[in-house]
Amino acid sequence: MQSNKKPVSNPTKLFNYYQNSSLARMINFINEAIVVLNIDGIVEMLNSNASDLLGARREQIIGENFLDYIESGSDKNSLIKRSLNAGKERIIQVPPIEVTFQHEKSDDQSLDVELSISSLPEEFSSSNSLFLCILRDMTVHKAEYTMLKRKAETDFLTGLANRHKFSSYMSQQWTHCVDNNLPISLLMIDIDHFKRFNDEYGHVAGDRCLKRIGDVLSLSLPNRDALAARYGGEEFAIVLPNCHAQNAQLLAMRLKRHLAQLSIKLFALETDTKLTVSIGVATHHNHRYASPESLINGADTLLYQAKAQGRNQICYL
Ligand code: GH3
Ligand code: MG
Ligand code: MG
Repeated sequence: MQSNKKPVSNPTKLFNYYQNSSLARMINFINEAIVVLNIDGIVEMLNSNASDLLGARREQIIGENFLDYIESGSDKNSLIKRSLNAGKERIIQVPPIEVTFQHEKSDDQSLDVELSISSLPEEFSSSNSLFLCILRDMTVHKAEYTMLKRKAETDFLTGLANRHKFSSYMSQQWTHCVDNNLPISLLMIDIDHFKRFNDEYGHVAGDRCLKRIGDVLSLSLPNRDALAARYGGEEFAIVLPNCHAQNAQLLAMRLKRHLAQLSIKLFALETDTKLTVSIGVATHHNHRYASPESLINGADTLLYQAKAQGRNQICYL
């Protein structure tokens, strides 16, 4: 580090001050986005990878408080502050944490970054403790993660939630509704004689039919909290948080009507046989069921009652 006095507030002078230092040469050499911070979180220098990532010229960032770039209200801010402060007394090594940066070039564009912070050895820091902060762009990783998560929760054929998503959503909404003394309803829907349909028209037509039914179910949901899922082969489930028994029954009737309109003619087949469904409707309120599983069992029992009574009907308590 140079021996001349360090300019504290002028970014250009600060930039020039460090320009030929061994630390600047080192960070410019390393193929990572690196920012050097002082104990107050002020940017003392950064390499071109970091300025590219943050979308601003070096002179714009040097002298700024690095924490101001991190989305406000984030508890990561105070973690970084505390860590830098602890760096006065001892060597710190903050393992990678994920933060969101507000991009310099645009107000509404944010940038997901993983950052780690380490104390620099004394020969780089002199009397003023400095910290090396390595930034990694997580944008692609996050987009891939979101896409994979969506795929892992979606039924490939119908585009509805799959059984895995159904289970986790059911448990989550059960807890929410029970904690807030709200009802939660569940519809279990099974296509009648679907094996016959497949045997007669083939599995491709059967698949098309399942997809059309999936579309009808998702278009019929009463609100954003309701979730339609493919529970099994030709069986569907609809979770209805904060929904009383009467409204769940009305929805079941509406669905049955809409599904009846999906006559086999819709699938370009030479017959006017109607596709029918059986539905079980169960509602948890006032301690009727003990757990999400028993609510599912309740709806399932009612569905099988509808089958036993001749199919093409709705059963509820
Ligand atoms: P029930 O009225 O008693 O429900 O009679 P069902 O024939 O609908 O019931 P069953 O359980 O005997 O047969 C279900 C049929 O659903 C058998 C299977 O070929 C069909 N199925 C399940 N999953 C799929 C799928 O992904 N695609 C197609 N095309 N058919 C499927
Ligand atoms: Mg069936
Ligand atoms: Mg079935």
